[in-house]
Amino acid sequence: MYIAGAWCDAQSGGTLDVDNPATGTAIGTIANGGAAETRRAIEAAHTAFLSFSKTTAGERAEMLRRLHQLILENQEELAQILTREQGKPLAEARGEIGMSAAYVLWFAEEARRVYGEIIPSPWHGRRLLATRQPVGVVGAITPWNFPSSMLARKIAPALAAGCTIVCKPATQTPYSGLAWGELCARAGFPAGVVNVITGSAREIGGELTSNPLVRKITFTGSTEVGKVLLAQAAGTVKKVSMELGGNAPFIVFDDADIDRAVEGGINAKFRNTGQTCVCTNRFYVQAGVYDEFVEKLSRATQKLRVGPGAEQGVELGPLIDSQSLGKVEELLADAVGKGGQVVTGGRRHELGGNFFEPTIIAEASAAMRFSREEIFGPLAPVFRFETEEEAVRLANDTEYGLACYFYTRDLGRAFRASEALDYGIVGVNEGLVTTEVAPFGGVKESGMGREGSRHGIEDYLEVKYVCMGGL
Ligand code: ADP
Repeated sequence: MYIAGAWCDAQSGGTLDVDNPATGTAIGTIANGGAAETRRAIEAAHTAFLSFSKTTAGERAEMLRRLHQLILENQEELAQILTREQGKPLAEARGEIGMSAAYVLWFAEEARRVYGEIIPSPWHGRRLLATRQPVGVVGAITPWNFPSSMLARKIAPALAAGCTIVCKPATQTPYSGLAWGELCARAGFPAGVVNVITGSAREIGGELTSNPLVRKITFTGSTEVGKVLLAQAAGTVKKVSMELGGNAPFIVFDDADIDRAVEGGINAKFRNTGQTCVCTNRFYVQAGVYDEFVEKLSRATQKLRVGPGAEQGVELGPLIDSQSLGKVEELLADAVGKGGQVVTGGRRHELGGNFFEPTIIAEASAAMRFSREEIFGPLAPVFRFETEEEAVRLANDTEYGLACYFYTRDLGRAFRASEALDYGIVGVNEGLVTTEVAPFGGVKESGMGREGSRHGIEDYLEVKYVCMGGL
């Protein structure tokens, strides 16, 4: 672990194994840290905050620029680490590292644009100022599906704002998280500004959410764990940002460019083997183009190359672990039992291990579990609908509200539907929409707060009102 500018082991917890999901073999061990180490990291971050928060925006921007440069210089090695612990194809891993660098550069730039206000005073002899100050020590907990870029979205704005941070990467993918400690040290961030701890999620999460020195919790992961952290953070009234689960609908209207919709659908469904919170969970296709879409989507799906992420040309890696594989099988069996038709795939892949065939299920219905539950795997259910009103109603019929997609060539419909869909992110005729310059985040039980864009730094700042009297 990286605490207070030094590498250390767990005080008493020993180590945990980390596996390569493509082979099932152990690739190394990590420290099994707990509450004691977390406390030490929080205290180091608190001490560091006292001086780091006084640095100028220009100084922080300079360090972030160095960090950006270091990520790019080490892009290949970082991608190799990522693929080895996470399983995604190397091309996707390189892309993710590129995104991490892009977030860092973006927030290096935003650091210098944290403006305050002078408010016209309602009183004579007084001046009213609103300034923005860093919230303080941040606790960040991140998932295994984007082990590098999910931390980038938190570390970069936190540092840009002048906060210090204690990070806990997912136990399945800790090395990409630990790499941030090394890179931040090389970039010149003082000891204690960035700390990375690994080990027991429950203990580390418990300490981060209850320690009064932590002023903000930022979490990306499941809605279930997000709710636990929200409840825990309530005890000390911390600021919170939550990037939680999704149940993304992908609507194809009769008037859509079907080939484009198929291409977007493949990206939105199968990227990272379906393991992203913005991956399509439900395809809704209008009756007039249903058969054509299913046929073309199946054909494109059959062409996808499955294999170990480190192998050249592979497009779909393994699932992260056997539990995820089991869930995909369960959801599939449930759908088939309720009348779903497997058009493509439908089995564990012949490669064995955690590999599963990319699968299309036609004649999906609302009774099937995936109409409510996040699949997080390479399973694409295709539902049929008749009218625009029905599509929007079905798409909104979920407690989630992260990303949604729809395809149409009708301008009026593009505006109507994008306004009517209860989601934080809408892709119109696009299946891949994430970029560091745009706000990423959900509504309803998909969370609160936005990452990336100029809004991404807001969650790390508090507004302070200063009333100057006696002038
Ligand atoms: P996913 O389904 O993407 O694995 P999780 O919500 O299970 O999402 O995990 C996301 C992150 O939250 C991981 O770093 C995990 O270790 C951590 N985590 C899981 N349970 C808890 C908990 N009770 N308290 C704090 N962190 C937790």
